[in-house]
Amino acid sequence: MLYRIIDADDLPSLIRAFMDSYELVAPVKHGPGYIFDVIDDPSDVVLDYPTTIASPKKYFLPSEETLFKFDVASNDVVDFEIDIKPRVLFGVHPCDLNAIERLDAVFLDSRYGDPYYRARREATLIVGVGCMPTQNCFCHRVDADEAPRGYDLFLQDLGDRYWVSISSVAAAEILEESTHLREATDEDRALFAAATHRRTAAFDGSIPNVQDIAMLMDTYHSDPFWAEFGSRCLNCTACAAVCPTCMCFDIKDILSPDAKTGERVRVWDSCNSPHFARVAGGHNFRADERGRVRHRMYHKLNGFKVKHGSMLCVGCGRCVNACKVNINPIEVFKFFDEKTRSSAVLSKEANDAE
Ligand code: SF4
Ligand code: SF4
Repeated sequence: MLYRIIDADDLPSLIRAFMDSYELVAPVKHGPGYIFDVIDDPSDVVLDYPTTIASPKKYFLPSEETLFKFDVASNDVVDFEIDIKPRVLFGVHPCDLNAIERLDAVFLDSRYGDPYYRARREATLIVGVGCMPTQNCFCHRVDADEAPRGYDLFLQDLGDRYWVSISSVAAAEILEESTHLREATDEDRALFAAATHRRTAAFDGSIPNVQDIAMLMDTYHSDPFWAEFGSRCLNCTACAAVCPTCMCFDIKDILSPDAKTGERVRVWDSCNSPHFARVAGGHNFRADERGRVRHRMYHKLNGFKVKHGSMLCVGCGRCVNACKVNINPIEVFKFFDEKTRSSAVLSKEANDAE
């Protein structure tokens, strides 16, 4: 990894240089919040943004895409479609960089890789940016507050300059051509350390730090908490739509009006949807909200970690903002925090009584 410093005044030039060769997607103001969108004007880019409403996952996994077209009579594929644009995803927070790494584990690195995801992923450069936590950020509780990899460049704002971590040749060449790079000095290093310290201190300390949450979830699998928690769910699936790591999808074959041709379409789905686990014959393996909400939390905090070594939740806080009935991982942490504290009190009382 290489580290260099650029002046803050060089940022528009860097953005323009990327725009010369790539479609540039970056955070922009949108109504009361921020979204990732395609940029026409470098001055629209906002780098000191709070978490965007939705994540950038749609640039790798669109909410709806035609996988291929087919001919019904010949029962064969007639057109194989992937819409690929060389793209730069600019200004991605560490939680979202971690989220993309989780998606990679499934769509790139698993036994059955996904050619559509791979094509977009390989055509995309990623520029990360350091952030300050908002009220509902808890990436520090799920080991996703830092992103040691998963980007081509990473920018840390140091006031009148940026600390740039460089990890790809393609991005390094554009950076070198469009800015006045210099080596970091002791003053830059001190500013970098101060920025890291400020960020660490800004997280909400009241969000519990629950150790061994995966194990706890197994041991409290039948606790009445899940029935109450799930009973609040409105089945709106907003949580999955905004989540950077929710990746469930459905596949539909849509026939033309004359039924001679058709297209196979992939659309986002959600395990919180009442129909998600319904199978042929009508049986639904997760027919009630308790089962669905519990399943989603298990996959985020337990199942994915058992299989891939890291939680599927990256603590971005988007579902905390999106869910109208307060169903989110922070509430699960609070439940286990209370449970483990009360268990500790009971066991101390039992010991004292002996
Ligand atoms: S958990 Fe909340 S956001 Fe998700 S489907 Fe249920 S009500 Fe909607
Ligand atoms: S579960 Fe919620 S907090 Fe965790 S990654 Fe998804 S949207 Fe973010």
